[in-house]
Amino acid sequence: MLILKFGGTSVGSPERIKKLVPLIDDARDKIVVLSAMSGTTNALVEIATALYSRDSKKANAQIAALEAAYKQVVKDLFSKDAFLKMGEQLIRNHFDHLRSFTLDMFTANEEKAILAQGELISTALVHYYLEEKGIPSVLLPALNFMRIDENEEPDLDAIEKGLRVELKKHPGHLFITQGYICRNSFGEIDNLKRGGSDYTATLIGAALHSQEIQIWTDIDGMHNNDPRIVENTRPVTQMSFDEAAELAYFGAKILHPTCVLPAQKRKVPVRLLNTMQPEAKGTLISEQPPQDRITAIAAKDGITAINIRSGRMLLAYGFLRSVFEVFERYRTPIDMITTSEVAVSLTIDQPKHLPEIIRELEMFGSVQTDRDQTIICIVGSFSGEKKGYARKIFDALATIPIRMISYGGSENNVSVLVDTRFKKEALNALNDGLFAEAL
Ligand code: ADP
Ligand code: ASP
Ligand code: MG
Repeated sequence: MLILKFGGTSVGSPERIKKLVPLIDDARDKIVVLSAMSGTTNALVEIATALYSRDSKKANAQIAALEAAYKQVVKDLFSKDAFLKMGEQLIRNHFDHLRSFTLDMFTANEEKAILAQGELISTALVHYYLEEKGIPSVLLPALNFMRIDENEEPDLDAIEKGLRVELKKHPGHLFITQGYICRNSFGEIDNLKRGGSDYTATLIGAALHSQEIQIWTDIDGMHNNDPRIVENTRPVTQMSFDEAAELAYFGAKILHPTCVLPAQKRKVPVRLLNTMQPEAKGTLISEQPPQDRITAIAAKDGITAINIRSGRMLLAYGFLRSVFEVFERYRTPIDMITTSEVAVSLTIDQPKHLPEIIRELEMFGSVQTDRDQTIICIVGSFSGEKKGYARKIFDALATIPIRMISYGGSENNVSVLVDTRFKKEALNALNDGLFAEAL
């Protein structure tokens, strides 16, 4: 079984949906995972925000605008009367449902139900379109098998079981399902966080031990630097799971932050491909020995650095454990850490419990925080025997103030923390220093 995931731009207009058909219409058994049409999830977030602030007038206007856009999509997508009618009815049903949320109390549960509408609509539209073209397909409801547990982590065993039941119920060769959406441990509608359709695809691929997971998007693979910020980036044709996992986690938006993990766990290769340029080689992520090189650079914004300075750290054991326990209590992951004899600096990207965390850390010593920091992650092969890479990296960053450095934590990652104001300059400087000669 092949898993193919198409992102928002790949289903972003009737033209794009029409161009998608040749990519999925062959004899191979496959599950096609679809995102919402681009812009839809953002629009749904805005509707939910208006409803949170009890502005139902604004929400209704936003719902009407989105509905009008979808009515046009239906007109442009279908040519046969019966399908035009089915499409119109589909849109009416989903938007009547959306409007029902403007009448009653609004909580996080309603918000999640609203956010799910984008993927429910896009998959139904593509399913109908395939039917109009005479291509049989089966619509698999992701809400029947995608599960997260009480810690909001995907439950791979439950997903595998549920998926096998669904596949048995509906025999076929071409399955379509929704990315992003799932049910939580209470059975409520939930999601895998923004960009989560990639995660759906890798979870399905891992659950079924499939031969390959393909992530189809709007760029020809994982580039060696962030193409939104740096010019002249280029695709990396092959990389290891570890490298891809680090890049995704540290900000390479082409992949959801944790989506590489299920594929890595079950050793299912992941291929990144471009819908606008299907013949391009893209990137193959697989189990392969790391190559002797600097592979790529990514950057993660919204980081808070916390520095704890304490005389008690001097010659004390158990100090770091007590510090980490504070973060554990507030379920706040730590990304980077550096220590000296009298101080420790670490970073978090979830500031939700920052005030409580600071209050508890102040029991150990003085605490200083810096918001708006960026982790720049340089991924490659940095084993202990390699020489010269650190020098290359820091030569490139010679003019940039660096707040923290992490080297040696893993063999394939060097991270530096800079103020977000210096991110663009740092990414460009690293591009010139690390990749220019290889061009
Ligand atoms: P989709 O809607 O298909 O999921 P995304 O917008 O989530 O697509 O991801 C693709 C985008 O990721 C690209 O258009 C590109 O701007 C951005 N991106 C950021 N870093 C990288 C990188 N290192 N390589 C490729 N694309 C990247
Ligand atoms: N539609 C969701 C989002 O925009 C999920 C995804 O596209 O991957 O975040
Ligand atoms: Mg995405």
